[in-house]
Amino acid sequence: MLSFENTEIAFSSKTDKDLKRAQFLFKMIANNFLVNSGKYLSRFAMKLHLPVDWAVKPTIYSHFVGGESIEECIPNVRLLEQYNVKAILDYSIEGTETLEEINSAMDETLKTIHNAAGDNNIPFAVFKPTAFTIETVLEKVSAKEPLTESEKLEAENFKQRVEKLCQTAYDNDVPILIDAEDFAFQNFIDEVVDANMEKFNKKKAIVFNTYQMYRNDRLEVLEKAYKRAVKNGYYLGAKFVRGAYMEKERARAAEMGYPDPIHPDKESTDRAYNAAILFCIERIDRISIFNGTHNEYSSRYMTELMAEHGLKKDDPRCWFSQLYGMSDHISFNLADEGYNVAKYMPFGPVRSVLPYLIRRTEENTSISGQTSRELGLILKEMNRRKNGK
Ligand SMILES: Cc1cc2nc3c(=O)[nH]c(=O)nc-3n(C[C@H](O)[C@H](O)[C@H](O)COP(=O)(O)OP(=O)(O)OC[C@H]3O[C@@H](n4cnc5c(N)ncnc54)[C@H](O)[C@@H]3O)c2cc1C
Repeated sequence: MLSFENTEIAFSSKTDKDLKRAQFLFKMIANNFLVNSGKYLSRFAMKLHLPVDWAVKPTIYSHFVGGESIEECIPNVRLLEQYNVKAILDYSIEGTETLEEINSAMDETLKTIHNAAGDNNIPFAVFKPTAFTIETVLEKVSAKEPLTESEKLEAENFKQRVEKLCQTAYDNDVPILIDAEDFAFQNFIDEVVDANMEKFNKKKAIVFNTYQMYRNDRLEVLEKAYKRAVKNGYYLGAKFVRGAYMEKERARAAEMGYPDPIHPDKESTDRAYNAAILFCIERIDRISIFNGTHNEYSSRYMTELMAEHGLKKDDPRCWFSQLYGMSDHISFNLADEGYNVAKYMPFGPVRSVLPYLIRRTEENTSISGQTSRELGLILKEMNRRKNGK
């Protein structure tokens, strides 16, 4: 029986000093007052272009981020490799607006694809669609609103940029994950990703769409995507997450007066998530699954379904993934059992990854309960080492 309780395995890559730092960090994050003031101060410092690197880099940044560049991430990739844990380098720049910023994100993401092609321990590439166009275009196309001539051109440019990334991934045989972000952008993104799946997934899943299962329409969308894949003769790449923008989505729906797109409660999100995993395992001849979660049940559930369906633990169509710096007890124990596991390892200049870091602190406050789990495990391991067991 797979257990996530073994902290010796979970923290095998961590020195005593690493554990102490992680303990300190999660204690700080558990404090809602500190998180809120930290968020406010970092946004303020960013606006005024004040230096924040000195405070952020040695602490929260080095826990959750692989480094400023691909090269800086490599020692961390090599460390994970020793424990059969793979890595996905995620250029975590957010809020690109100018053509120069978009081109630079493009160059860096293309580099990650080429880098993955030459490294056995980096099984996927990844990108966020909002890095490759302006958000108003994604929003207007998704809502089927009329576009100006320059917006039409920008929508075309976006399609071409995504196609170039998928083509490069295909040419280098590196599967590529396309993250999901706001509800308001997703219709257009789904359309573009589906077209690329149809083009590049004829022999196996190279292009993966992301299904945020907190959305109440995603099971239906998944079923339709599957049917289209069967009908048009290609493989479906399906990355699953619960979804990271719940409060924002609910607030937008209330403000704009449309029905809340999110499931009414956590239980219904959980049910939809697990139903999606079941749906895919039952159709594994046509779907590759990327199970992106810190939820123990959803991770264990997939291992059980794989066994029931006679799949090998390292079936190349079945992947588990957690974010770098979180839930090592899931990643390292799964990897130790022989499953395919990859950590999402964000990288980029300190300033650009701040929004990502702020989301991680929010997710880890005492309210969400994640921190008490991380802290409890860290303390358990520190005690185990102290008592020499
Ligand atoms: C490898 C990886 C890649 C990721 N990529 C993306 C991505 O592309 N896009 C993205 O949006 N997120 C992404 N995330 C983040 C993810 O969406 C979740 O925010 C995060 O992982 C927490 O969900 P969980 O399944 O790990 O755990 P859990 O702690 O079991 O679930 C928490 C989640 O449940 C949902 N939830 C909580 N309360 C309620 C409620 N009252 N009603 C309805 N639903 C509720 C929310 O989605 C919340 O984040 C990624 C996460 C991982 C591990």
